Amino acid sequence: MRKSPKRRLGALFFGLLTGFLTLTGITLAASVPADTSAYTAVADSLVQRAAADVDRVTALVASGVMARAQLEQAQERQADAQDQALLARILYANTRIEDMSDEDASSMIEAAKRRVDRQAGVVAQRQDLLVKGILAKSDLTAAQEELESRKGVYELAIQRVQLLNNLRHMAAAEEQYQRDAQAALARSVMIRFDGSGAFDPADLNKIRARYEKHFGATLPISALGQTLVHQAMGLDHRNRVDVALNPDSAEGVWLRSLLQHLNIPYLAFRAAVPGAATAPHIHIGTGSSRLKIAALPRDHA
Ligand SMILES: [Zn+2]
Repeated sequence: MRKSPKRRLGALFFGLLTGFLTLTGITLAASVPADTSAYTAVADSLVQRAAADVDRVTALVASGVMARAQLEQAQERQADAQDQALLARILYANTRIEDMSDEDASSMIEAAKRRVDRQAGVVAQRQDLLVKGILAKSDLTAAQEELESRKGVYELAIQRVQLLNNLRHMAAAEEQYQRDAQAALARSVMIRFDGSGAFDPADLNKIRARYEKHFGATLPISALGQTLVHQAMGLDHRNRVDVALNPDSAEGVWLRSLLQHLNIPYLAFRAAVPGAATAPHIHIGTGSSRLKIAALPRDHA
């Protein structure tokens, strides 16, 4: 039951969609199509099949029926299937991008890259066979399509890590300005509105709805409540929401005036300042405080 390149491209686009929705903070838990787990299940069964194949070929090589090179090929297919399963687990999984660990991020990139490299080898080999007249043109085309599909997955993996880095920069900006809020306010790098002094996360739905009605787009939430990124920096981000909007853009200005109207506290971080890796955004809620305990329960949004 090997997937056609088209089918796999479908999975890729689903991955893209999931990534986007996760970035925008929409919880997919209830609406994730069974396809995600189906994809993982298919990838896992391919791993099992490849492992069984390696066992079979190992025995045949030992008894002299098959050449050693065939074992190497079987092992290569096994490694490829394992990489695909890893991508299914990390890239297509229903985890929020802001909760992806560094380890997962780098193994995801490496697995996607290895799958591109392996397929590039296959394409080169087939091109050679085509020249020699041993192979049909359609066999080369299929391999080339597969290569393109793998490149797309690799691109997607890179994009996801870039998003993660962006989120890190936002959290780093908060941490930095938290330490020296007065200086940041004086330099107008940060804008602070204290409002009622409290943010009720239940108000987020209202804010989202109004934003969507006004701009016809989803509020670009980049961090909803506590995240692994904030956790790693020792910041308490519970009951706080980051929105990836430049506070000086039309959308950012609109959002700030809505928050002021609703008396909801916020901090707005402006564009990068020299020497600091800041990402402009609007943080809804009071400033993040230092975590007082080592680990927070993860389900505290
Ligand atoms: Zn924040």
